[in-house]
Amino acid sequence: MKTKQVLQKLQKIFPESWLYFVQSIHAFVVFNWILKIQSQPLKVTSKSMMVFSPHQDDETFGCGGMIRLKREQGVSVVVVFLTDGQGSGGSKATTKEEIIQTRKQEATTALNILGVASKDIYFLDKPDGTLPDLAADVKQATIQEIVNLLRLYQPQEIYVPHYKDCHRDHEATYTLVCDAIAQLNLDVDVLQYTIWMLWRAPLFIMLKLRDILPAYRLNISQVLTHKQQAIASYSSQLESLPPSFVNRFQGCHEIFFKTQS
Ligand SMILES: [Zn+2]
Repeated sequence: MKTKQVLQKLQKIFPESWLYFVQSIHAFVVFNWILKIQSQPLKVTSKSMMVFSPHQDDETFGCGGMIRLKREQGVSVVVVFLTDGQGSGGSKATTKEEIIQTRKQEATTALNILGVASKDIYFLDKPDGTLPDLAADVKQATIQEIVNLLRLYQPQEIYVPHYKDCHRDHEATYTLVCDAIAQLNLDVDVLQYTIWMLWRAPLFIMLKLRDILPAYRLNISQVLTHKQQAIASYSSQLESLPPSFVNRFQGCHEIFFKTQS
C-alpha cells in the first residue's frame, strides 16, 4: 500500500490534528537524528547555485538559509520554479489565474528578501500536479528548458527536492533535472533538500539508509531572521499548511543530501 493510501486510511480513523501531531513528532525525531548523529557539517562555498523548486515555497522552506548565505557572499543564485502553483492558493484567490499570480508575487517577495534579484527567478509554468504525467513531447520540451538554463548560467551547485520526497511533483522535479544534467554530461554538485519526506515517510518502512546518506547539515542561525521573513511572505500557503509543518523549517539548521554518482 502506498503512503498516500495509508494516510487516507489513517485520516478516516483519526482526527487530522492527531495525525499532524504524530507526523510532527516523527519528523522532529528523524530530523534531529540525522542532524546530531548522521550528518557532517556543510560549508558555504563560492560555488554558484541553481535551485529547482516544484512549487512556490519549496525553495525557501528547503534551502532559504543557504540561498541567503550565498547571496551575502555575492555568489550567484538562480531559482527555477517548475509548476505554476495553481493547486493551492489560500482563501483570497478565487480563480486559477489569481492563484498563479499570488504565488508568483509571494515567491518574488520571498526571494528578494533572501537576496535573489527578480531577473534571476524563472517560472516554467507547468500545471501544478502534472509533472510526473507530462506528455512525451512536453516532457522533452521541459527538459530542454532546464538544459537551456543550465547552459546559460553554468551553475556549480544544483539544488533539487529529494528523489524520495513523498510528493509526485517533487520527485518528478528531481528526475527532470537529472535528465537535463545527463543530457549535458554536466559535472556538477547535486544537493537534495527535503520538504515532505521526513513528514510523510515513516523512516523504518519507506527509507533505506542509503537514501539519507551522506547527509550534510548547514547552520543558518546568522540568516534565520531573513528566512523567517521570507517564509512569512508566503501567506497564501501558510493558511493551508499545518503550523507544526511550517515550524520545522524555521530552525537553525538545514539538511542536504548529496547525490551519489
Ligand atoms: Zn511543493
